[in-house]
Amino acid sequence: MAQENTSRTSALVISAVMAALSLCAAAIIAFYPPPSTFAKLIPADNPWVRDGRFSAPICNGVQCKLCPFECFLPEGARGRCKVRINYGGRIKTLIYSKPVSVHLDPIEKKPVYHLYPGSLIYSLASPGCNLRCKGCQNWEISQIYPEEAAKTALVPERLDIKVDGSTGQVYGDLKQKEVSILPPGDIVSGALAVRARSIAYTYSEPAVFYEYMYDTARLARAQGLKNVMVSAGYINREPLEELLPYMDVVKIDLKGFDDKFYRKYVGGRLEPVKNTLLTLKKNGKLFEIVNLVVPGLNDGEDSMAAMVSWIKKELGTDVPLFFSRFFPNYQLSNIGVTPVETLTRARDKAMKQGLKFVYVGNAAGHPGESTYCPVCGRVLMKRYGYAVLENQLTATGGRCPHDGTRIPGIW
Ligand code: SF4
Repeated sequence: MAQENTSRTSALVISAVMAALSLCAAAIIAFYPPPSTFAKLIPADNPWVRDGRFSAPICNGVQCKLCPFECFLPEGARGRCKVRINYGGRIKTLIYSKPVSVHLDPIEKKPVYHLYPGSLIYSLASPGCNLRCKGCQNWEISQIYPEEAAKTALVPERLDIKVDGSTGQVYGDLKQKEVSILPPGDIVSGALAVRARSIAYTYSEPAVFYEYMYDTARLARAQGLKNVMVSAGYINREPLEELLPYMDVVKIDLKGFDDKFYRKYVGGRLEPVKNTLLTLKKNGKLFEIVNLVVPGLNDGEDSMAAMVSWIKKELGTDVPLFFSRFFPNYQLSNIGVTPVETLTRARDKAMKQGLKFVYVGNAAGHPGESTYCPVCGRVLMKRYGYAVLENQLTATGGRCPHDGTRIPGIW
């Protein structure tokens, strides 16, 4: 009986303490409301603000569930990506239809090699990124607040094919226009007007302009265009799986294969990127991987061999893998250009380990730019820089004309 009374008293004391703590918390929130500075700065009629997806209310705020950072955002606070905000208790994206960089590129520039070689791809970015790569090649647009971006962007409007009267040379004459808002419908009609066969969500990190990319990709698919997401792969599985039915190719920038490198030089972790690659594989998506080789930082032979053997075991030998040359930039401007020999060695070893399509990027004229038949070894797609010099795959629907081997891709 005495023991029962003691337990009851303890339970009452705990309940009283909990009630007192709750009252204290409520009083603190009432007297010191969470900051709303940014919310006040963003006018309700801002043309680029839209409801954001993938969030849940939590404590006195919301948690964004779009990427593995899962930022907790009190009212008015912005996420690590700088482009998502808790506004009135709901997640908002600040960059819907806000273009920061829009170009008509050869698809080889992405680089994407197994989708319509030699075609043009309408490529766009909005500001922002969830990662902090010290060697970012596009930091002027990825590491800024949307308010810091230029108010307008030049976008491709029309492409006329002309012939030079004196030389007889055929060339494209691209007309551009300046816009401050570029809705999904205008992207799709623009891409068709400039003879692009696909649209790339690229340059910055498309995961953080998810809603804009998703709506555009759906419209583009309905108009017969292909969609390509060029990403660091730092996105949660649920949003990724919702997007994949509209994506034709996903290009993942696998920045290294060492978690310490990811934490120190990328500002993230390796595991979520591996999970993204596994999700792509599980969903049967076409994807390619690029690894930017930074001298002295991620070019260790053991780590590169571990990366290749993981790709082989978990993703298969058909996945195209690029070893790309690094050029000094941003906070790694003190590091030199990757020697071409490093890339050649990495490619040779990856092929010896069993990968069938290993390329060298950012090194025009390297034999590793071309696609070879993994069975007979003949050149099937000869490239020089962004140009395709010889194409034996489009006419055959992706089969080696010599032995019929099927090459994965959309040709
Ligand atoms: S998308 Fe942005 S706000 Fe959302 S979790 Fe990632 S970094 Fe945070």
